Amino acid sequence: MRIERAQLRLVPLELSEPFDSPAGPRRNRPVIFVTLESDGAVGWGECVALASPSFTYETTETAWHVLTDHLLPVVVGADLASPGDVLTVVSGVRGHPMAKAAVEMAAWDLHAKLEGVPLVEALGGTHRRVAAGVSLGLQRDESTLLERVEAFVERGYRRVKIKIEPGRDVEVIGPVRSRFPDLGLVADANGSYSLREVDRLRQLDGFGLLMLEQPLAWDDLRDHAKLQEALQTPICLDESIRSLNDVAFALDLGSCRIVSVKPGRVGGLANAVAIHDLCRERGVPAWVGGMLESGVGRAHNVALASLPGFTLPGDLSESRRYWNRDLVTPEFVLVDGQLPVPDGVGIGVHPDQGRIDALVVRRATFTA
Ligand code: MG
Repeated sequence: MRIERAQLRLVPLELSEPFDSPAGPRRNRPVIFVTLESDGAVGWGECVALASPSFTYETTETAWHVLTDHLLPVVVGADLASPGDVLTVVSGVRGHPMAKAAVEMAAWDLHAKLEGVPLVEALGGTHRRVAAGVSLGLQRDESTLLERVEAFVERGYRRVKIKIEPGRDVEVIGPVRSRFPDLGLVADANGSYSLREVDRLRQLDGFGLLMLEQPLAWDDLRDHAKLQEALQTPICLDESIRSLNDVAFALDLGSCRIVSVKPGRVGGLANAVAIHDLCRERGVPAWVGGMLESGVGRAHNVALASLPGFTLPGDLSESRRYWNRDLVTPEFVLVDGQLPVPDGVGIGVHPDQGRIDALVVRRATFTA
């Protein structure tokens, strides 16, 4: 497929409620939408870089710069044999996986639409529904946390992830575990601990967590391996995983026993599928993480999560978890604790272009 035209749209979205992590509070969620056009079809992608470089070094502004000055000028006009070829075309650009992924994912949607198949089919997905999980930001006190968890459990979520940080860990997880003895519980530290706190982290072994996510710094696979030796709880790596090589290295070192796959963090869906395949081959459970996406990014994530090796519930929530009104129709709605995988062509949901265009604050167009 030859890419004839591309557009960028920057849309400042407001979360329906603040999301607080160890990196700080978050209320606004700027999103860059990428569209690629070929032969009358339009493919949509969404850039998951955040406003600040708190999760990785990328930000909305670095992504805009890299997309505008380095990626789209070479992608537009290129003839792609497959969507993953986007990465070959832009191989002269080092890093910036979130900016690259936004283009690559738009190419997947475009490819599926040109072929007249659902994205899930193009990716090799096998499940029609995927188990939903929810991620909770840091809460102001214990009773608020318990109320929030209860509400999500009643809504049908099968796995709840709670943010922790030094000084707010055992005392946060303990009461949740007492109240919900059978709930699939995950603690996510976003890299806020060091090996000095190993005794503290070992206390979490008593709570039967499904996993402890990214306890140590993103660039410290060696200490993660030491920590994993000291813990019964499986470590899951999130921020540390930027590529297939990172996964292979982490598994060889014993730095984790579970892998979180976020297509934005690893440069797109082709790399995400390759990581899925490696994890499956090595018998390592994997799941699809989330980055507070709108319905466009969510549709990509849900299609990816339908692959057979994603055996654990992901950070896949329904639209109303984050948005008063999503930017796609139909919105994502939980059914018996699961999200149905859209079965229309491409991403299978329709971006509300009128509403998106009404919200756009910056736009750029590229033509061949
Ligand atoms: Mg995480």
